[in-house]
Amino acid sequence: MDASDRSMAVKRMEMVQSLRQKGLVNERVLDAMQRIERHRFVDRESSVSAYEDSAYPIGYGQTISQPYTVAYMTTLLLERCSPPGKVLEIGTGSGYQAAILDALGYRVYSVERIPELHDRVVGLFRSLGLAISCRVGDGSLGWEEEAPFDGIMVTAAAPRCPEHLLEQLGDNGCLVIPVGEHNMQQMTVYRRVGERFEKELFHHFAFVPLIGREGWN
Ligand code: SAH
Repeated sequence: MDASDRSMAVKRMEMVQSLRQKGLVNERVLDAMQRIERHRFVDRESSVSAYEDSAYPIGYGQTISQPYTVAYMTTLLLERCSPPGKVLEIGTGSGYQAAILDALGYRVYSVERIPELHDRVVGLFRSLGLAISCRVGDGSLGWEEEAPFDGIMVTAAAPRCPEHLLEQLGDNGCLVIPVGEHNMQQMTVYRRVGERFEKELFHHFAFVPLIGREGWN
């Protein structure tokens, strides 16, 4: 470990500490966030501030989610669906959220609509030795060939819950998705119980839009 790795590890510890103070206390989630090197997922200029609790641009008008948001969504999923299960993420973006899910022991599948972001992440996952399956496409339609999933996490804002994603949940599977208007969405969890869906509502967030057939136009 060189000096810069050490200073990043200290910054990561401070990030985890600040998440704990904000009420995110799931030890397994915090442990994964301590282990995954967030600075590898942002560009070089942003890497010094990678551990501050903010979102950063990753190009193409997209952002890496704020650590608070990542911890929040991951906790909702983990509390309802334990690893090792099959989890689908919609909106690969920087790859950070997918890497956190992988670190928790899920089998991770991730769909991104922008080919350039997909290509960058595939290279990054390869260099980090992460076996995460990625593909380019409209994630509002899910990933039918790989369904059913134990968990699905959508990291972009949906105007309503996509039917395809509900259909691709296995029994007892959970979907975590921010649903609402362009500038504000409510974190929503759907659980499949046979042919029924139970719905729970949580805090408000502001995500970039989910663009696709079952998203925004
Ligand atoms: N999970 C990401 C957050 C990225 S922001 C991370 O950890 O960095 C949301 C991402 O969703 C963007 O990269 C955007 O291009 C992507 N996106 C938007 N609509 C999509 C769709 N219909 N299918 C797949 N990805 C989509």
